[in-house]
Amino acid sequence: MNPKEWYWEIQCEKLVDVLKSKKFNAEFIKTRTEAKDRLLELIPREATVGFGGSMTLSQVGIIEALSERGNVIITKRGNPSDPETVESRRKALHADVFLSSANALTRKGQLVNLDGMGNRVASMIFGPKNVFIVCGLNKIVNSLEEAFARIKMAAVINCRRLGTNTPCVHTGECSDCRSPERICNVYSIIERNPGQNQITVIIVGEELGF
Ligand code: SF4
Repeated sequence: MNPKEWYWEIQCEKLVDVLKSKKFNAEFIKTRTEAKDRLLELIPREATVGFGGSMTLSQVGIIEALSERGNVIITKRGNPSDPETVESRRKALHADVFLSSANALTRKGQLVNLDGMGNRVASMIFGPKNVFIVCGLNKIVNSLEEAFARIKMAAVINCRRLGTNTPCVHTGECSDCRSPERICNVYSIIERNPGQNQITVIIVGEELGF
């Protein structure tokens, strides 16, 4: 194992212990491929699955893998102004399983997110009985302050990726816009598992997402 991998393995194992002390299930898994295989083991074949939009989940390939083996995938991606998309996201609140990444994970075990519609953070907190949150190493930060800074950076990149009509797409920085297409509307910090559902955090030993 090279020294960098050794360092991160130790940091991630510590974070797993912190998360467990806050009533989360938590695991460190070295690669995205192993993370996909582990999720396929943990999620029952008959479970309906909702998910929050996430580059991490795309890179892990878990949604396609679940769909291929027959799980019913609920969330329709699309324009938030499309009523069908909104309805689909509402249905995802009642899925058996919800999958997401987090925008940031602090070393104190806080999951920090910023959402456009709020459906992703709502589903993480209350609704689906089994929630899986997949985080690459790049999501780990030292403090809430760092978490909010990284979230804003990711929001600007996401706007560029999505091609939103927001000023950050042109300037490369957030101006706290009032654009109708603003994606930064709902912040959440999950300090501790509230306990109504089972939340499993899977930390992957690779950089994933923004
Ligand atoms: S608040 Fe507006 S400008 Fe700032 S990152 Fe979000 S969408 Fe872009």
